[in-house]
Amino acid sequence: MTKDKYYLGTLCKRGHDHEGTGKSLREKRRGHCYVCKLADVVLWKERHPERAKKIKIESRKRHKEKNKERECEDTRRWRLNNLEKSRAISRRCQRNASANLTDGYVRKLLTVKSSLRRKDFPQDLVDAKREVIKLERTIKRGGKNEEYKRCTGRSL
Ligand SMILES: [Zn+2]
Repeated sequence: MTKDKYYLGTLCKRGHDHEGTGKSLREKRRGHCYVCKLADVVLWKERHPERAKKIKIESRKRHKEKNKERECEDTRRWRLNNLEKSRAISRRCQRNASANLTDGYVRKLLTVKSSLRRKDFPQDLVDAKREVIKLERTIKRGGKNEEYKRCTGRSL
């Protein structure tokens, strides 16, 4: 909450006392009580859950779009100034992604032999691929490469 948008005015009808001052926090622009307004918003949301949800999603999207460019620029600048650190972080991220078989990592593997992009693969397929990788890793760790080759005709 920014101070320059609000002031302490006379106590509102519903008696929203601001931190024991005996006054209500009011909007400078229209003089509405801040707490009353919040309560009204909550009420409205309760009455129109679907519309509230839609508005929330849209505003988040707008916010993201607005900040996208700046965020990219900030990240780029930080990377240039912290090359070593940035490399270490990305190595750690990759190791972590590979160890935990994150969605992003599995999707990346799926794109290797496909013209589709990461986000084009359905989640079912990603989950299935993850299971295959787990299986392959288990077999590999168990030193059963020969058996694997005999069964699948492929090498690990
Ligand atoms: Zn009030």
